[in-house]
Amino acid sequence: MKPTKTVVILGAGTAGTIMANQLCQVQDEHVDLIVIVIEQSAIHHYQPGYLFIPFGVYTPEEMQKPVEDFIPQEAILMAEAIERIDPDANAVLLSSGKQVFYDVLIIATGNHIAPEETEGMMGSLMAQGHFRFLYP
Ligand SMILES: Cc1cc2nc3c(=O)[nH]c(=O)nc-3n(C[C@H](O)[C@H](O)[C@H](O)COP(=O)(O)OP(=O)(O)OC[C@H]3O[C@@H](n4cnc5c(N)ncnc54)[C@H](O)[C@@H]3O)c2cc1C
Repeated sequence: MKPTKTVVILGAGTAGTIMANQLCQVQDEHVDLIVIVIEQSAIHHYQPGYLFIPFGVYTPEEMQKPVEDFIPQEAILMAEAIERIDPDANAVLLSSGKQVFYDVLIIATGNHIAPEETEGMMGSLMAQGHFRFLYP
């Protein structure tokens, strides 16, 4: 009997979704994979498509689909918010209080815009609303 390894993917944006789909296709003669995806949002945003919304090519609704539509049936999708990672215990702690243990962890929780960390970015032009970020 083959040993089992658990891969936990944090986030089901573009990166997490691609990893889940790739890993669920892996047929390894030495190990069985359990793939768990943890995502707090029920909606997947196709961000590149947002560029086309102002020009009427797509509507916002067309760029937003249910996360579950893109996660393979072989994977376990957990609709939960991630609180923190406990690397010493190989565990992810969720806001609900649950713990999910992993053998391999893939962090795909996206980015966070932090203009205040770049000198000058929060100057007068920014304050007057002359710059906009496309990232959520
Ligand atoms: C307008 C625009 C145009 C773009 N055009 C292109 C392009 O032409 N080509 C290109 O290659 N890229 C493009 N990009 C960039 C590309 O869309 C992003 O790089 C990509 O979507 C990032 O994917 P990701 O999976 O890393 O993050 P995201 O898609 O942001 O996914 C992160 C996921 O993690 C989840 N998450 C975060 N924190 C938690 C938590 N605590 N608990 C549970 N879940 C959590 C979020 O809900 C989210 O679903 C564009 C982006 C924008 C905004």
